[in-house]
Amino acid sequence: RIYLDHAAAMPIHPEVLRFGNRFLAGFAGNPSTIYREGLAAEEAVSRAREEVAALIGASDPASVIFTSGATESNNIAVRGTALRNMKRGKRVVTSTIEHISVLNPAKVLLKKGFAVTEVPVDRYGTIDLGALEEAVTPETVVTSVHYANNEIGTIEPIREVAEIVHARGGFLHVDATDAAGRVPINVERAGIDLATLSSNQLGGPQGMGALYIRPGVRVQPVLVGGGQERGLRPGTEDVFGIACMGEAARLAAKEMPEESRRLAAIRDRLIAGITDIEEAYLTGHPTERLPHHASFRFSRIEGESIQLAMNMLGIAVATGSACTSRTLEASHVLLAIGLAHEEAHGSMVATLGRENRADEAPRVVDAVRETVKRLRAITPL
Ligand code: PMP
Repeated sequence: RIYLDHAAAMPIHPEVLRFGNRFLAGFAGNPSTIYREGLAAEEAVSRAREEVAALIGASDPASVIFTSGATESNNIAVRGTALRNMKRGKRVVTSTIEHISVLNPAKVLLKKGFAVTEVPVDRYGTIDLGALEEAVTPETVVTSVHYANNEIGTIEPIREVAEIVHARGGFLHVDATDAAGRVPINVERAGIDLATLSSNQLGGPQGMGALYIRPGVRVQPVLVGGGQERGLRPGTEDVFGIACMGEAARLAAKEMPEESRRLAAIRDRLIAGITDIEEAYLTGHPTERLPHHASFRFSRIEGESIQLAMNMLGIAVATGSACTSRTLEASHVLLAIGLAHEEAHGSMVATLGRENRADEAPRVVDAVRETVKRLRAITPL
């Protein structure tokens, strides 16, 4: 079995698994209490906060809050920041290829009287900086642009985006779900005001995430209750999940340079081999892309058929984003980079991870070649 859908779900890092087993065997109290068991839990949460902050170059660990995942972080960042600061103006800007957990919260703001602008991207998925300059006005409270796209792997020019946003006095939110732990991120040097992270994308458990909020940026909670996580994420903390995410962040920071180089070499072999197939094309940016990410489109066949056929050959690949794959609609990302509907339906995404080995690349390329040939022979298209 060759698993190539790490953007959808990552196996837990073996060291996080060991750490988590030890952690669960002990007893973590409620971090809000002040006796020994509670203080130990609070200590575990604090340590995790430090590790996550360190991974993204945030000098104040208190700037990180823990959430139930990237979707929740994106909701707090987009809606919470917009609503808390709307006396400045009622405008929000995103790109056309943001994840739906950014685009949909922005749409909710429409009902509160906000104007939302989706800035276009070029055929590689790179945001149009000229269009961004026009879209962001002094009334724009939040601009949300992801660090990298999960369907096409393109890395955005975040420093340039930050300059444009800050020149007009607004806040920049960056969804770094797919980039964190893969490429070095320094929120302070990049000028990022809020950043979304996912635990699973670092090798930690699913259903766990974090949001970096630069000190001084005021955000309104989306969920209300107690005062946990500075009142922005009320409710008793998932101490186990948080501790494991912290451990995953620590390992990601340590292993990233070598691991990203290793995966990029496998990625490049996949790209070279698969784009050699007739009418097969790379999607996303040829060089400014995530080190573990290879994405393609094939003319005259359907992504779902490729996925099923590859599964039969023992290989798990994606076709677009797992979050929308069951809708059978063409990906908004692939349409936004200029593909026609029928082109957007023929996509295949391979995202690599820790267990993948270099000798798998030729096996995957052969399987894709065989699959594409067989499917084209029976296609009515
Ligand atoms: N943002 C991006 C860029 C993503 O890739 C994903 C997951 N594919 C999410 C947000 C949502 O993550 P989750 O489902 O864990 O909330």
